[in-house]
Amino acid sequence: MISERPLRIAIVGSGPAGMYSAGHLLEGPGGTFINGGLNQIVRRPVEVDVLERLPTPWGLIRSGVAPDHPDKKRMAAIYDSIARRQGFRFIGNVQVGRDVSPADLSQWYDGVIYAVGADDERRLGVTGEDLRGSDSARAFVSWYNGHPDFSDLQFDLRCERAVLVGNGNVAMDVARILFSPISTLHNTDIASYALDALGKSQLKEIVILGRRGPEHAAFNYPELMELGELADTAISVEGTDLSLTPENADYETQLKVNALAKLCKEKSQGSRRIVFRFNAAPTAIVGEGQVAQIKVVDRRDQSEQALNAGLVLAAIGYRGLAIDGLPFDDVRGVIPSRDSRIVDNGIAIAGAYVTGWIKRGPKGIIGSNKKCARDAVAAVMADADSNVLPMEGTLSAAQVLEAINARVSVTLGFSGWQKIDRQEQSDGRAQGRPRLKMTATGAMLGLVTAG
Ligand SMILES: Cc1cc2nc3c(=O)[nH]c(=O)nc-3n(C[C@H](O)[C@H](O)[C@H](O)COP(=O)(O)OP(=O)(O)OC[C@H]3O[C@@H](n4cnc5c(N)ncnc54)[C@H](O)[C@@H]3O)c2cc1C
Repeated sequence: MISERPLRIAIVGSGPAGMYSAGHLLEGPGGTFINGGLNQIVRRPVEVDVLERLPTPWGLIRSGVAPDHPDKKRMAAIYDSIARRQGFRFIGNVQVGRDVSPADLSQWYDGVIYAVGADDERRLGVTGEDLRGSDSARAFVSWYNGHPDFSDLQFDLRCERAVLVGNGNVAMDVARILFSPISTLHNTDIASYALDALGKSQLKEIVILGRRGPEHAAFNYPELMELGELADTAISVEGTDLSLTPENADYETQLKVNALAKLCKEKSQGSRRIVFRFNAAPTAIVGEGQVAQIKVVDRRDQSEQALNAGLVLAAIGYRGLAIDGLPFDDVRGVIPSRDSRIVDNGIAIAGAYVTGWIKRGPKGIIGSNKKCARDAVAAVMADADSNVLPMEGTLSAAQVLEAINARVSVTLGFSGWQKIDRQEQSDGRAQGRPRLKMTATGAMLGLVTAG
């Protein structure tokens, strides 16, 4: 028999996948828009708690998407409107796997959707990777976006050359931010300390390494073209002949390679330079305490060259992080699943679901998570309809908060985040900026508890 009470669902993570899941679960009477049409998948009342390890919501919208892409950051307005729907509750500053366990959540809720993103990175695996001045692009991106776990990092940009290993869109973002005029960045919500460090930058050259030829370049056309908009910046290519790109390459590849060739032609002059170096792989990072050089092998003839560099950033991919108490596929860096249901040794765990980057791996744009979230919610509802959800012993909303507050000294609700949000915007206005991000968890919690 189907229970009369609302289903109580926890969503872990408040990034796009988590917030789209909440949106689907709390859809209006007409359903949710998918592929241009209204679809109804939820036919019973639902209450949703979104548990987030940071005091701030929205995942990579806040800490990944580049600050000079405000149109993408505006997606947060959609999540904000979802958060105002009846039945939604945000509980910030709670880390699942540390403060509360997956076993707790499956006891407290009817179902749990894990939407924890990809909170780790792939490493280069070469010597010297841990020298000062060598880090991941993920750390650099999180730093300039003011993520509290990265706000204490120091990036000294008073060097002439930076080398980015990997040529995907994250590398394009990093190169663009490194060479953007400070006056442009001032009009974004980039962290203030990053603005200061970038203001002192002496970088003249950014080398972007790709292991294979241009036909395998990972960047997309729009992100490449944005580099072409940087003033006083030459663009060149090494390690390949662009005119030799295979004629049978697909349309997207032809578009990218032709665009790169055109950029090299049109942007041959500039006091700064971005070099796309193909067929090049790092073999070692060298220096005494601090990065001084990176050794690069030309994969066509195995010749090796040492490039002087003061900064090396590995942009070779994000990776999911295991959560204590949940199965993890260490090879793919994801929580294993079948039809959005978490599986342990091939067997579905009742009431446990996964969506977003922690399900699919770190690929796909913001919008890809909407369909992915819908699949997870459809699985929850199908299991609810067939009485598969473990509904015995579920706690009320008040009991859950009491249990969490017994373990975490300060949590915050959505009104707490709204207070941080207002403060950031008002501090920003005072400096003629859209927002001055708070970047320390202690300060954010202090503001929220100040009354
Ligand atoms: C640098 C970068 C730039 C990007 N730029 C764009 C762009 O311009 N346009 C675009 O369309 N897409 C962009 N993307 C892709 C987009 O950000 C992702 O598709 C999307 O954020 C993935 O959503 P998610 O919810 O799976 O993960 P996330 O956005 O990472 O959200 C996961 C959330 O879970 C929380 N969390 C993690 N672990 C726990 C835990 N144990 N307990 C509680 N909470 C936890 C995290 O704090 C986070 O808030 C970019 C990605 C990156 C990395």
